[in-house]
Amino acid sequence: MTLGLSVVVPMFNEEEVVPLFVQRLRPELDALSHDGVSVTYEVVCVDDGSRDGTAELLFAAREEWPQLRLVRLLRNAGHQAALTAGLDSARAEYAVTIDADLQDPPEAIGQMYSMAVSDGLDVVYGVRSDRSSDTMVKRWTAHSYYRVMRRLSGPQLPDNAGDFRLVSRRVIHALSALPEHGRVYRLVIPWFGFPSGQVTYVRDRRAAGRTKYPLSRMVSLGLDSVTAFSAVPLRFATWAGMLGTGFALFAMGWALWGSFVGGTVPGWTSTVATLGLLAAVQLLCLGLLGEYVARIFVASQGRPTYLVGYDSLHHPHPALRHEVTGSPTYAPRYSGGAGPSRNDRSGSAA
Ligand code: UDP
Ligand code: MG
Repeated sequence: MTLGLSVVVPMFNEEEVVPLFVQRLRPELDALSHDGVSVTYEVVCVDDGSRDGTAELLFAAREEWPQLRLVRLLRNAGHQAALTAGLDSARAEYAVTIDADLQDPPEAIGQMYSMAVSDGLDVVYGVRSDRSSDTMVKRWTAHSYYRVMRRLSGPQLPDNAGDFRLVSRRVIHALSALPEHGRVYRLVIPWFGFPSGQVTYVRDRRAAGRTKYPLSRMVSLGLDSVTAFSAVPLRFATWAGMLGTGFALFAMGWALWGSFVGGTVPGWTSTVATLGLLAAVQLLCLGLLGEYVARIFVASQGRPTYLVGYDSLHHPHPALRHEVTGSPTYAPRYSGGAGPSRNDRSGSAA
């Protein structure tokens, strides 16, 4: 029997929120029904290489909640890659991705599901109606991000839609066919253009613990977003080059004329200023070029974006307890050996 709904939850060092999350999500999912028929579900918790008790807590919670599944990545792969791992292992007809910190309300999942099934939608976005719980900096960066990205990726990008959304099996197939590394789901999914709807919600504060998105990760998400959708930054070098050439020609004519009429000036300030400016622009262009070359490099290496170390679906009772509890850094060798592949990404078993 196929499942109705997979709930995919990326988790990185979330031991403070796991109990709260389980407590709030379970009643919602147990009560989930459509047209009077209850919906079968699984919860795919992707432990993204946590070094705290996240995996152990989840493993313990499974005893009472069999629908809870623990997928442990061998090392921290990042939020978007953890989402990929979760969507690849999800088995149901529909999948909802939700953060573990209860900023997105589990109560909206039922509404998303009903909307998708009754209106035949492939995507239902969770759209934040209010960001007053976010800091000023976060609001400002988010606002600029959506504005820039709408220009680059197209007008279909919903405003303030993060990674709380429902997708159908069709979308999951389309996503897994993308060879792209560092996919940014909130951009790629709208770009597909599947029929979609929206559910608005108020984004809450983090229930416990601290954000796992420091500024450096936000910057790299921004760079991934821009480079995935636009070559405009590369063209910036061309434009700067053209402008610089025009300016240099003009300056050359001016200097020649000056030397002919014998009116040469010391000109130290202008020389230093021009050199400094040109050097800066050149380095900037080199850096921009590097961003794209780096992505080509990563794509050509063809390394997997994540590796699964443990999946409770395939090994509900692991012989080695440290498979679940051990720090990912000391994870046992997973290559070779007997038994099913531990890097099985198909998620098609059972
Ligand atoms: N997360 C993850 N891997 C990471 C960083 C974050 O799986 O490397 C998860 C995290 O546990 C949470 C979600 O991604 O469930 C969103 O992270 P967070 O709430 O810290 O981001 P914020 O809401 O502050 O932007
Ligand atoms: Mg959060």
